[in-house]
Amino acid sequence: MTKFATPRRQFLKIGSAALAMIPVVAFSDRALAATNAAMRGALKYQDKPLAEKSCGTCLQFVPVKDAPTKPGSCKIMPGDTEISPTGYCTAWVKKP
Ligand code: SF4
Repeated sequence: MTKFATPRRQFLKIGSAALAMIPVVAFSDRALAATNAAMRGALKYQDKPLAEKSCGTCLQFVPVKDAPTKPGSCKIMPGDTEISPTGYCTAWVKKP
């Protein structure tokens, strides 16, 4: 009995770990979402446009492929994947 206890415990531990991973895998898109607070602060980023100026009309904006209305990224805000197409910052440059 004792000689099977260790593999059984290992199996249970592995099974528990696998169950714990399910939410992480299911919501991996959100888990990877990140913001760059330092750059946002420095460039006075806001989630709303300034008149006709918005991230969606900015040269620096990188939209999500096939989902241009979802949050994308910005070429000058490294690691930030939550840039709203309707956002704005002081580094706005009109898209040609
Ligand atoms: S530079 Fe500013 S306005 Fe332009 S996409 Fe980046 S965050 Fe938006």
